[in-house]
Amino acid sequence: MIRFREIKNALLHLLFPHICAGCTNDILDSDSSLCMRCIASLPETGFALHEDNPVANKFTGRLQLQSATAQYYFTKSSLIQQLIHQLKYKGHEELGLQLGQMMGRQLVQSGRFQSIDILVPLPLFAARQKKRGYNQAAVLCRGMAKAMNIPVYEKSVERITATESQTKKGRIDRWLNTEGKFRVKDEAALTGKHLLLVDDVITTGATLEACGAELVKIKGTRVSIAALCYATR
Ligand SMILES: [Zn+2]
Repeated sequence: MIRFREIKNALLHLLFPHICAGCTNDILDSDSSLCMRCIASLPETGFALHEDNPVANKFTGRLQLQSATAQYYFTKSSLIQQLIHQLKYKGHEELGLQLGQMMGRQLVQSGRFQSIDILVPLPLFAARQKKRGYNQAAVLCRGMAKAMNIPVYEKSVERITATESQTKKGRIDRWLNTEGKFRVKDEAALTGKHLLLVDDVITTGATLEACGAELVKIKGTRVSIAALCYATR
């Protein structure tokens, strides 16, 4: 017996061809941006299962964290790089929601992120967010929130340029300041909570460290970090 859902999906597919964001094969599941083969080929790190992992170690001595993880290895010219490009520059928010949901499910399964109260996306500079239309880390958080059943606070922290102090500083200082500074806007909402700070890619960890350093200053607040990808270099 053909189910109604299958007929509906087949009709939708005829009207709106739906292709995999990874390999462009056409897929029938209208709820997914990726085919099963692409999902299976993503290089999982398994870091969420282990307290002692390369992302956690990266922050040792730099930032006091409860837990830290990244879901996939990031390599150049790979499927995951292509997906992040689509999320950041091609407006593919649906893909970000799905990747976030996949991340969230793995964090729930790991059992190491049960005490998280709030998801906090690493903020973009206001001008960049306006240009892009959204913050890709916030899109990931919205997908994670679905899987983890916890709220996202998108406007609790902001990223600001240090323009005034920069004009008086030298070239190297200006270069060091290009990632900007972070300011907590809603301290009351974050006080005493366990926050999960989320970004798309961890490379040096400097930006997450700068943001996390502001969050751990809040009284009784604990911070963990999760990224979609970990770039080794
Ligand atoms: Zn595919």
